[in-house]
Amino acid sequence: MKKNLFLSGALLLNAFAIFAQDDLTKPQTTEVWEPQPKIVTPADNNAPPSDAIVLFDGKGFNEWETLKNKAVEWALKDGAMTVVGGKGNIKTKKTFGDCQLHVEWRSPIESDTLKGQMKGNSGVFFQQRYEVQVLNNYQNKTYANGQATAIYKQHIPLANACRKPMEWQTYDIVFTAPRFRKNGSLERPAYITVLHNGIITQNHVELQGATEYIGTPQYKMHGNGAIELQDHGNAVSFRNIWIREL
Ligand code: MG
Repeated sequence: MKKNLFLSGALLLNAFAIFAQDDLTKPQTTEVWEPQPKIVTPADNNAPPSDAIVLFDGKGFNEWETLKNKAVEWALKDGAMTVVGGKGNIKTKKTFGDCQLHVEWRSPIESDTLKGQMKGNSGVFFQQRYEVQVLNNYQNKTYANGQATAIYKQHIPLANACRKPMEWQTYDIVFTAPRFRKNGSLERPAYITVLHNGIITQNHVELQGATEYIGTPQYKMHGNGAIELQDHGNAVSFRNIWIREL
């Protein structure tokens, strides 16, 4: 009886395989028509595409606030914002999950006595926890997992694509937020992809947890979060910041 069941099962599978094989001779069988991707109109020169949320267009800090929800006190000049050391990190008023972020930044010219992490340090944090490092690594050596586009202390960049100080640079970052179960345990880690000046430096790397300066990263359950820019005491500038929710 068991053998018969096995045989009829095998015959059925075989018949299905022949049917499917027949179907696969037609190109139409593997075409998918619905749903159609939404239409997004691209823009030239890194300008925001049609469905982007503009976070900074050079005119003001209306999308930003301090970590204590107060008015931003960074400098605003010539379409750029610049860190004023001691005024603290700033964050977006809106919060985000999975997203594509475009941000342009510029290292200041600083004294040669400043080295390593002391040179043009800032950072782009996703959900106020996961840092993509901003650093002047043009002829400036530091620990590899702490240089520009490092997932700070977690992932070394695939390349050093830094331009000189006072030259504008682009980050295009795809962030996939972590997922948590109801009991707070991690269901799926966060992932990040980074293009620095058009060069891929992080290829869908898995994050080990929230960025830590000291010690090992860990995940703690959270929901959507703001984009945060770091005040590390260096006069790093930012411009043309936009985001697409995914
Ligand atoms: Mg930093």
